[in-house]
Amino acid sequence: MKPPAALTSAPVPQRRGLSIRPGGVRLIAALLLLAAPLAVAAWGLGNYAAQRERNNADARLTDSLNSASRVYRRALSNVDVAAARLANDRQVQHKLLHGGRHVLVWRMQVDDAHPNGEVFSQPDPPPAAAAVRSVKVDFFSKAHTIGRVVVFLPLDRRFVEWLTRHGELSGHQQLALVRGGSLVGPARTLPIESGPIASGPKDIRAAGLGYRAVAMGLGSAADGIRLAALEPSSYIESKATSARWRAMGLGFAVIVALLALAYSVSPSIARTRVSKQERERAERVLAHVGDGVLHVDRDGVIRLWNPAAEAITGLRSDAICNHPAEEMIPGWPEIVTRVPVARRPGDADDAWTAETVPLEIQGREIWLSMVGVSLGDGIVYAFRDVTRDRRLEELRAQFVATISHELRTPLASLHGAAMTLLERQDELHEQTRRDLLDMIAVQSKRLAALTEEILLAGQLDSGSLRVVTKPFDPEELLWTAAAAARIRVGDDTTVDVSIPAVLPKVEGDAERARQVLANLVDNAIKYSPQGGRIVLGFEADGDYARFTVRDEGLGIPLGEQKRIFEKFYRLDPDHRRGIGGSGLGLYICRELVRSMNGRIWVDSDPGKGAAFTFELPVADRVTAPA
Ligand code: ADP
Repeated sequence: MKPPAALTSAPVPQRRGLSIRPGGVRLIAALLLLAAPLAVAAWGLGNYAAQRERNNADARLTDSLNSASRVYRRALSNVDVAAARLANDRQVQHKLLHGGRHVLVWRMQVDDAHPNGEVFSQPDPPPAAAAVRSVKVDFFSKAHTIGRVVVFLPLDRRFVEWLTRHGELSGHQQLALVRGGSLVGPARTLPIESGPIASGPKDIRAAGLGYRAVAMGLGSAADGIRLAALEPSSYIESKATSARWRAMGLGFAVIVALLALAYSVSPSIARTRVSKQERERAERVLAHVGDGVLHVDRDGVIRLWNPAAEAITGLRSDAICNHPAEEMIPGWPEIVTRVPVARRPGDADDAWTAETVPLEIQGREIWLSMVGVSLGDGIVYAFRDVTRDRRLEELRAQFVATISHELRTPLASLHGAAMTLLERQDELHEQTRRDLLDMIAVQSKRLAALTEEILLAGQLDSGSLRVVTKPFDPEELLWTAAAAARIRVGDDTTVDVSIPAVLPKVEGDAERARQVLANLVDNAIKYSPQGGRIVLGFEADGDYARFTVRDEGLGIPLGEQKRIFEKFYRLDPDHRRGIGGSGLGLYICRELVRSMNGRIWVDSDPGKGAAFTFELPVADRVTAPA
């Protein structure tokens, strides 16, 4: 039933709008960090450009002043020429000689009509604001001075205007004559309100306005009047400001471009970093994965061979990587045909079940369970070592065969005896009937023992077997086992006990130890078909007691001495020697001894016999728990 609307919780609406992820925040912070020094640099660049513009203005001002000064000097030399010409003029000389005046004055006029100057006679002495040149006039025949000719160039507004026109001025530059505390310009005279104008560029104020100005003297002829070049500070500053903004604009444009570039490339840098991290992580994972991983490229060359693959096969990565798999891995062509290759990992469409393939490496056969997944440029194979499982599987199959045989023989005997007793009971001799009943007893005991063995192995496998460890007397155990064995052996076999005078107590489960000993004695009898001497031995050092069962039977080849303790393992699985067995006895012995904190091993000379020893802790050594 649907719950009432008021009780159902409405889904929380997702907030829409701009959301900046932590990565984005980091990126913005990084961009700002990058932008801050660039902005400072752009600001510095702007100031530099402005200062450069000011320096240029100063340089231009000095150039203009020099050019105006050259024009002035030309005009002054024209004054000299005019004075010399007048001094040599006969009429002038005559006038000086007879005119009653010793000084005759001329004014030099320079304007567009007379760019080289034109002299005009002037009755008055030269004014204060003039460049004055005077030449002595000598009366040559009498060799004495008869007077002076004076030519002057008025340094007034008209002259400044002419100079301005003939000088090479740029921008908003102006020329002026510095006379006392005033600037005489072509249009008007301005009072100087700041300090004097120097020979280097300097800021001044005149008539309420700021100027950048530089001045130079006009020589002794000008009586202290100086020529100045000036430019309004506002004009220079506006040019400096626009130069600053141009440079800063350029700088900021570069910053914006850089930031945009950084912003656009940062994801790919981040991706590169992330993919590098991912690659490293993948390599670490591959190095720690338990399965062997192998990458074979399209040309069949091994490109990757992880540490697990090295451990499983014993083939080193540096020895086989970058070499053809066919040359490096024995039987590779067959493996390739057998191992399935999926299009994707876990692809359901493919028949993607691992294939178990054998590999013989340096005389050692290993079994690998292998699958492949196709990669763009080859195939990745993953494999695990199933040699143990495979061997166990083989042993299990053997066990089934063995156990069938072990069951069939007594069952056939039992069946035969029972049928004979049933059908011919009355005809049979008393002794025969007894023999048949004995046989039934023996064979059913054999079946019971076999069943017992299978059950015990199962209990040991599942860990459900209870082992009670406490001190027990080994001597009694040995004598009992020997006595039981003597009953079973024929005349060709002797069973002896070889033990020291005093035996320490042993820590373990007496019943389980008896079982182990009985099993070893059984085997000694079973695998000594020619009979011989069987010796039950015991020895102890400080910590451990060792029980030994030695026989003079078939013995065990060196290569098999470890394997006989494996579950189901038999040297003669097909019972060719006619000696029966399930392959469980020694496995049970090993597990029982282990459960009592001991160990078991065999020493054997094939053909000469075997000595099985199991070792258990000595009881006195064991400190009682508090
Ligand atoms: P089984 O029931 O076959 O005897 P075991 O686990 O007791 O199984 O022994 C495993 C194999 O070890 C035997 O099949 C036999 O080949 C070998 N073996 C065990 N004891 C001896 C021995 N005393 N001498 C020679 N071979 C032995």
